[in-house]
Amino acid sequence: MSNPFQILPGENSRSEALTGGCDKPARENAARTFFIETFGCQMNVHDSEKVAGVMMSRGYRAAEDVDSADIIFYNTCSIREKAAQKVFSRLGQLKKQRHARLPVIGVLGCVAQQEGDAIFEQAPHVSLVCGSASYSKLPALLEELESGSRRVTGLSLATDECFETELTRRDNRFRAYVTIIEGCDKRCSFCVVPETRGPERSRASAALLAECRRLADEGFTEIQLLGQTVNSWRDPSPARLTFAELLSRVAEIPGVRRVRFTTSHPRDFTPDIVQAIDAYPALCNHVHLPAQSGSSAVLARMGRTYSREAYLEKIGCIRSAKRDISISTDIIVGFCGETIEDFEETLSLLDEVGYDQVFSFKYSPRPKTAAGGWEDSVDDAEKSRRLAVLQERQRQIQLRRNEAKVGRVFEVLVEGFHARLGQAVGRTPENYIVNFPGVPEWTGQYEAVWVTAAGPNSLVGERAGAA
Ligand code: SF4
Repeated sequence: MSNPFQILPGENSRSEALTGGCDKPARENAARTFFIETFGCQMNVHDSEKVAGVMMSRGYRAAEDVDSADIIFYNTCSIREKAAQKVFSRLGQLKKQRHARLPVIGVLGCVAQQEGDAIFEQAPHVSLVCGSASYSKLPALLEELESGSRRVTGLSLATDECFETELTRRDNRFRAYVTIIEGCDKRCSFCVVPETRGPERSRASAALLAECRRLADEGFTEIQLLGQTVNSWRDPSPARLTFAELLSRVAEIPGVRRVRFTTSHPRDFTPDIVQAIDAYPALCNHVHLPAQSGSSAVLARMGRTYSREAYLEKIGCIRSAKRDISISTDIIVGFCGETIEDFEETLSLLDEVGYDQVFSFKYSPRPKTAAGGWEDSVDDAEKSRRLAVLQERQRQIQLRRNEAKVGRVFEVLVEGFHARLGQAVGRTPENYIVNFPGVPEWTGQYEAVWVTAAGPNSLVGERAGAA
């Protein structure tokens, strides 16, 4: 596995000037290398960029690959049981492979915060456990290990601060993630995030806009604003911008061609967000609005704070926009007490909304959540059956929707290149994936692509010219 944080020539020029919260001179760490494997969502991917920045600012170097690293971090996700299990299985594999010279192994992120010290019992070769609110302390924790401590933890959530973003080491050359709000106060009954990421902390608008302007100056053309509930952002500064105003200000920055934001909570999704998308072409016409269920009874048990009807009102607002806005969602099947009738309501929600993409999962009880103490009433075989039915229903919906795009031209930001297929792959502003014959040099460029064929998950096209 290669390291996404490998330093390219000339890129480490900022290292000496930056500090990372420990007393040791950065040059003393220069020979030590680290590797980060990231599990989970964009928030975690961006957190890994922040961790890489902190490490490099203290003189550590990115390892070529996992096998040569002196320090290995697993940045973990615990949103579902499967994701958490994956981390422990990876830790087990590592112990078998690296018995001769075991590196420092650190578990970061949500599993770290959720399991805490218990990780040391399950995986005794782990020596560092650190949650997302404490990443700036990583150099100090590593120094403690070097001074002879066997195990160290950074698990405090007692913070009203957001992470210092100056140190972020972005991995992508054209898309930059920017966290605008950390933590979550919503306390959905199935979700462990409020436990693992702490309370909501919004960053001030002036600092966010300054960061976005700097990113545009550095050549990033797409900005993705991130938060567990991104649209719950509240400007803590006297400027008191609304979320929609923040979106507009970012979209106005010269050089920014695309602005995305994820994930929105339906409760805080307001009409002015749709008005901003209509007014600013740089705001991508795509909204990810997690429904979780189509049944009001299940939504009430989930503590989602909206009913099916209220959710559909938000969808109606999005559909009333002048621009054609694509909509994606998250769905959980088999939540505690979900009846067949409840499940049928979720299926009918898919039909009624006509989503462009659905991320669907089987419910799994998580520790430290309200629902974790309830009866997990739908057995696993039935959850699997419901998931398969739902996914097939959505597959048909997507296929129909995608076939209607054949013959149209979309602007595509090229994100990569399949060498074996000779195909460029990228995304439209609506977040549709498009494959088309191309060359690696187009990566990071905007191309106009004429759609010639459609499958349920992606489109196929021909380049029509530069966009
Ligand atoms: S809104 Fe609910 S599901 Fe989303 S992070 Fe917060 S608690 Fe979890």
